[in-house]
Amino acid sequence: MLALNLERVLRRIERARLAYDAHQIISLVAVSKYQSEAHIRALYEYGQRAFGENKVQDLRTKSESLSDLPIEWHFIGSLQENKINTLLNLQPSLLHSLDSLKLANAVQKRLGERKIRALLQVNAANEASKSGVSIESAKDIYEQICATCPNVKLEGIMSIGAHSDDRALIERSFKLTRDVFDSLKPNGAKILSMGMSGDFEIAIAYGANLVRIGSKLFEEVR
Ligand SMILES: *Cc1c(COP(=O)(O)O)cnc(C)c1O
Repeated sequence: MLALNLERVLRRIERARLAYDAHQIISLVAVSKYQSEAHIRALYEYGQRAFGENKVQDLRTKSESLSDLPIEWHFIGSLQENKINTLLNLQPSLLHSLDSLKLANAVQKRLGERKIRALLQVNAANEASKSGVSIESAKDIYEQICATCPNVKLEGIMSIGAHSDDRALIERSFKLTRDVFDSLKPNGAKILSMGMSGDFEIAIAYGANLVRIGSKLFEEVR
């Protein structure tokens, strides 16, 4: 089932990619947050290399027990300051959820000589249930982090699409995020992380070059 799910998702990404721009390169992060190590291992065997977790403790447990595999781990959940050291020690490939200047400063302080690649999380749909900086403040905060946190290597923007059945609202949240991303390209932004199981094709149509997909990859797998 996992192999079939992966094949279906990859085919859908490919179709959306070609409709958007044949030159676009899109990365898939498999969100394994509710999955066992066995399922992650199985998906790895089918070729998937990047996995995402949203809890520091889970990332630690899974990355340690799967340390025999060269998996690229992404951290996508909200990061509490008291978990920063644990996360940094795990050396994730990319932190998607840097959601304030305050958090960036706290990460910078604990990095010492180390560096971390990160994305600024934008709350494009302006939903109280989501973290992230506002669309209006995103460019300013991005520039402040670049200026004051030399070891936090910002490489782009992450956002979660509007939680809605209204396609126009979802499109609007992705368009707003894309506009912020475009405005940050002169600052070196190159990763636009948006799109999940329910909306990744819309996200790709608005320029996403990294999609984070969980349930569609692991559905009906027990
Ligand atoms: C869970 C999660 C995803 C994946 O969601 P699915 O709907 O299962 O594909 C993507 N991004 C973040 C930040 C998540 O927490």
